[in-house]
This record gives sequence, structure tokens and C-alpha cells, in this order.
Amino acid sequence: MTTSETTTEVEPTITEEFDVLIVGAGISGVGGAYHLTKQRPGTSFVVLDGLDSFGGTWWMHRYPGIRSDSDLHTFGYRFKPWTGPPIASAEEILKYMGDVIEENDLDRHIRYNHRITSAQWSSVDNRWTITATRTDTGEQRFFTANFLWMCQGYYRHSEGYTPEWPGMEAYQGDIVHPQTWPEDLEYAGKNVVVIGSGATTATLVPAIAADCEHVTVLQRSPTYFIPGRNKIELAETLRELDVDEEWIHEIVRRKILHDQAKFTRRSFEEPEKVKQELLDGVRSILGPEYDMESHFTPSYRPWRQRIAFVPDGDLFHGIASGKASVVTDEIERFTEHGILLKSGEELQADIIVTATGFNMSVLGDIDFAIDGKPLDFSETVNYRGMMFTGVPNLLWVFGYFRASWTLRADLLSDFVCRLLAHMEESGSKRVSVTLRPEDEDMDLLPWIDQENFNPGYLMRAMSLLPKRGDKPEWQHTQDYWREKDDIPAINLNAPEFLYT
Ligand SMILES: Cc1cc2nc3c(=O)[nH]c(=O)nc-3n(C[C@H](O)[C@H](O)[C@H](O)COP(=O)(O)OP(=O)(O)OC[C@H]3O[C@@H](n4cnc5c(N)ncnc54)[C@H](O)[C@@H]3O)c2cc1C
Repeated sequence: MTTSETTTEVEPTITEEFDVLIVGAGISGVGGAYHLTKQRPGTSFVVLDGLDSFGGTWWMHRYPGIRSDSDLHTFGYRFKPWTGPPIASAEEILKYMGDVIEENDLDRHIRYNHRITSAQWSSVDNRWTITATRTDTGEQRFFTANFLWMCQGYYRHSEGYTPEWPGMEAYQGDIVHPQTWPEDLEYAGKNVVVIGSGATTATLVPAIAADCEHVTVLQRSPTYFIPGRNKIELAETLRELDVDEEWIHEIVRRKILHDQAKFTRRSFEEPEKVKQELLDGVRSILGPEYDMESHFTPSYRPWRQRIAFVPDGDLFHGIASGKASVVTDEIERFTEHGILLKSGEELQADIIVTATGFNMSVLGDIDFAIDGKPLDFSETVNYRGMMFTGVPNLLWVFGYFRASWTLRADLLSDFVCRLLAHMEESGSKRVSVTLRPEDEDMDLLPWIDQENFNPGYLMRAMSLLPKRGDKPEWQHTQDYWREKDDIPAINLNAPEFLYT
């Protein structure tokens, strides 16, 4: 790192200079820091995060029961074995990330409480100037970097998405979004209604149901779930055979990825059969009398939305025991004491939890500008879900919807390191992507194909997102099994890369 000083009338402003600036100390940013230290030991870098510790998603979500919905062999890094049960609590994930930071001395690169507000690219200097506000002191801090590595996640951390329903102001109880769960919320002995039936609900409900008087899950339409044991037989067997944890991690990852690839393929080739298998899993716990048709039979194809794994079927055991129940209906309005449904039924609630999703944040809600001109990402075309036409020296980490996010974070880390090495070897200071002559007439489409994947947070934000083309180079294919070979094989001298 180097520093430069600009004297203003008030006080000198220090600008710290790095080769690379990583935005975010979540699982992606910490992974990026690890790979940089290993693959590019001479590269100076800093990681900035607006929160007061590492972990991102796992640090800021505090609702009861918070846990992963995918297995930690693949959500964990490829370089650090996961040795616990596959589905992990936020606390266990933070411990794992803390070990990675400590074992690799990454802490010295990370600055917490630094919320980045603007990023300005200068083509004269070939550098980004980053302005951050310290969330603890309010001071402004300035940084410059040649390369910006965006590991800011995909949703706004300050608040979750809560739709506006009529009558909300009249409701006398507490309305809580899981993303901003109050530490002192008293739910014991209370009637709780949880709106929404995604992964958050599947996690929260079993964690609170035993203490509550009753928990009602209110959903507009059913969702798919996979109940199963929170154990991987193969890992257990390998452990019994005294196989090294490094090997177990790699073997189990391969097995999980192999099974997932098969499952994904089947969900496209024989969706009805897969659907019936998923429903049978839930039915086996709820029993033959349960109204599966109304509450657990989605109208969409499996995999069009992320499928939550329910460890040991705990959500369904809660329902079977009578401590929790599901209502499939629409909200007419909130009342003083609960929610009036379109069917005319009224749900009484002391607490209403709105597990209604996220507000998408496109690249960390940072004001970007290129040579003084504000940058609107929706006017760019996205290269393989990681770079943007006309935006130099910037890489965006956006993981997978169906496979674990970190699989892609690891792949993109290798890509950044390879790209930086390539630039160093060729003496380039700037790289951007551009449409090739054969792409000029390409149809520009919404970033994600809604037929393929359509969660609400993405649909609401589609107008803010970059464009997709009809060729693989201009798509986030969401296909780990293809990208694991394609990304390492990207020809950095291909015509879509422009170097200066
Ligand atoms: C409850 C929950 C459970 C999930 N479970 C899974 C799962 O099991 N498997 C899976 O694959 N995915 C899961 N996901 C998706 C999950 O968010 C990602 O997989 C992963 O944690 C994202 O990591 P990240 O580091 O990219 O982003 P985040 O965890 O979102 O971290 C981003 C960091 O960047 C910082 N940041 C953002 N903007 C700025 C800014 N302007 N200035 C400074 N800092 C900034 C944030 O403070 C944050 O610390 C889950 C998501 C949620 C909400």
C-alpha cells in the first residue's frame, strides 16, 4: 500500500492506494482475499466492509434458527475442509470463516465499518477512487485501486422487503422482518404469523414453534422443500476409515455436485416425476391425511425457485405436531389483531413476521461513474455474469441460485488472479469487455430468463440489472457444471477483451 496526501483548507486528506480493492467481507470477499494472498502474493489489496465484522449474510441475520439451506461441503471454500454436519448454523459458518481469516492472516487486510458510497473510474490514471464513510465515526475515507472486486452480495443489508398491505398501521402487534430481527423480541407463548414460505420460513418456524403458542405460516402459494437427514453417509464412512479431512471434503463435494447435476437434469427432463418425489418426501412426514394439494403442491416446475433443504424434516414435524400450521390464501388487509384473508378468515397474531424476501442491491448501492459520467449498469451487457461492457477493471461476484454460491466465488477468484497475472505480463493497466462484431445484432434480453428462474427479488429489480445476450459469453448461465470447465478455459486474448 502507498498513501498520498492532498491538503485542503480543513485538514489533509489521506488517500490510500492499493492494487486491488475488495468490496465486502462476506464469504465471497474473504475467499477473494485468501486467493489473492495465495495466487498473487505481491498484489497489495484491502477489503472494505460496512459492517463491524466479517460474514456478511451470516453476521447480519440474527433470527432464531438461522442456518444454511445448502450443504457446507459446497458452500464452504474448496480449500478449507468442512468437518461438521452439512447444514450449518450462522454461528458455525462464522466460526469457519473466522478460522480461514486467522489461519491465513487475512485480518490485516480487512477494514470494517467502511461503507462505500462512491466509486469513480479515471481513464487518465487507470484507477478507481473509492469513497467510504466510517459507520462508527462518520469520517470519510479515500482509497484508490487499479482493480475493483465486487463481493457485495445481492441484497440490501439495511432492510428486507416488506410489501405494503392495507391496514398495516392499524395493527396493534409487532411486525418484524427476519433480516432485522430485534434481539429482545418476546415470542414465547405468543401467536405468530409468518408470511412467506421460502427458506427463511423453513428455518425460523421450527426454531420458534416449540416456544410459541402457535405459529401459522401464511403463504400465497406453495413451495418445494427437500426434507432429509442432516448427515452425509459417505462423509461418515470416510471418517470411520480415517481418511484425511482434505480428501473427505473433496470426495464429498464431488459426490454432492454429481447428485445435484443429476437432480437438476432430471427436473428439466422429467419434472413430473421429480415433483412427485419431492411431494412424497413431505407427505411421508405429514401423513396421508394432510392436505398436500393445497399447501405443498407448487404450480411451477421444480428448480424454478431455489429448493430449501429441511434438515431432519423439522419444519414438517412442527406441523405434524400441531404447533405450526400452514394457511394458503391471500391477504385482504391487516386488522387491529391480525390479518384478514381473502377467504374471509381472520388470523389472530401477536407478532407478524414478514419473511417476504429481499430488496436487491445492484453492486452495493454505490454511485459509480466512469470518467465523470454516472454509470447505469442496466445500460451495460453482462459478460458471463461477472464483467460489464464499458466498465474497466471491475469484476462482480454473483453466485449460483441452484448450486452453492461459494462454488462460483472460488471460480471467479481464480479468474481474477489469472486476469491480473495476464495484465501484468502484457503490461496492461486496463481491461474491459466489449461486444464483438458477431454480437452487434444480438438480441439484448433481461438479465435472467424468467422461465428458468424467477424469485421475487430478482423480478422486482430486473430494470436495474445489466442486459443478457443470447450467447453463453453474455449470460450468467447459472450452470456450475459447465462453468467449472469454461471459466478456467477463457481465452484472455479473445476479442471480447480490450486491454490498454
Ligand atoms: C438467510 C440466508 C441464507 C442463505 N443460505 C444460503 C445457502 O445455504 N447457500 C447458498 O449458496 N446461498 C445462501 N444464501 C445466499 C447468500 O447470501 C450467499 O450465498 C452468500 O452468503 C453471499 O456471500 P457474499 O459474500 O457474496 O455476500 P454477503 O454475505 O451479502 O456479504 C456482502 C458483504 O458486503 C458488504 N457490502 C455491501 N455493500 C457494501 C458497501 N457499499 N460498502 C461496504 N460494504 C458493503 C456487506 O456489508 C456484506 O458484509 C443465503 C442468503 C440468506 C439471506
